[in-house]
Amino acid sequence: MAILQVKNIEVSYGPVNVAKGISFEIEEGSIVTILGANGAGKTTILRTISGLIEPEKGSVEFEGKPIHGLEPEEIVKMGISHVPEGREVFPDLTVYKNLMMGAFIRDDNQAIERDLERIYNYFPILSDRKEQLAFTLSGGQQQMLVIGRALMSRPKLLLLDEPSLGLAPLLIKEIFEIITRINQEQRTTILLVEQNARMALSVAQHGYILEMGRMVMDDATEKLQANEDVQEFYLGMR
Ligand code: ATP
Repeated sequence: MAILQVKNIEVSYGPVNVAKGISFEIEEGSIVTILGANGAGKTTILRTISGLIEPEKGSVEFEGKPIHGLEPEEIVKMGISHVPEGREVFPDLTVYKNLMMGAFIRDDNQAIERDLERIYNYFPILSDRKEQLAFTLSGGQQQMLVIGRALMSRPKLLLLDEPSLGLAPLLIKEIFEIITRINQEQRTTILLVEQNARMALSVAQHGYILEMGRMVMDDATEKLQANEDVQEFYLGMR
């Protein structure tokens, strides 16, 4: 069953049309990736799903209900959490308080404590540094913190915008392993937007390729990995 269905969305910034009738869907429980060059419109898609942008045309349905036009907070409450590009931590709050900010829509304190422990289990470094101010963390630790914070709202669908950007290869590998664990252990559906096509295709089951505001390809990731154009333009193999 599709947990998310995006149908024919169009978005413009002033006169510039950036999403030119984009449609795609995400199977419940899967990891789906959208690949595309700089400026293709990947971030715009995530912002549209999470309610930060209202599309001029088209629809976004989550669990069969239309969500386009709803406030971002209502969309979080329905079970979608967005980790934006750029690791936006609350710099002057501790790691612990940053994580608790992710639980702002909840009042089930015991379950919040359990989820906090689960996040410390995924990211032990956050537990070690829980009283440290977020701005003092390294880039990789900040990326872990924003993913952890997003999990504190107990999302059914997690939107990840370029989690690997600017991180060292070993750290990228670690973050992707944790993303896979979150998907498998929590049954969290994940939409991953990435420029690191190799990593994204290795963790996702299905991929879409976005070029200049249009989806130009969509297939199982093994098929995309074997496709000559994908190898040439996204995997740098030819
Ligand atoms: P990147 O990988 O560089 O983040 P992207 O695929 O996520 O790129 P978007 O950020 O969605 O792409 O941007 C798509 C296009 O829309 C780009 O040409 C960008 O310059 C433009 N754009 C994005 N946000 C705005 C804005 N607020 N006002 C005007 N143009 C914008």
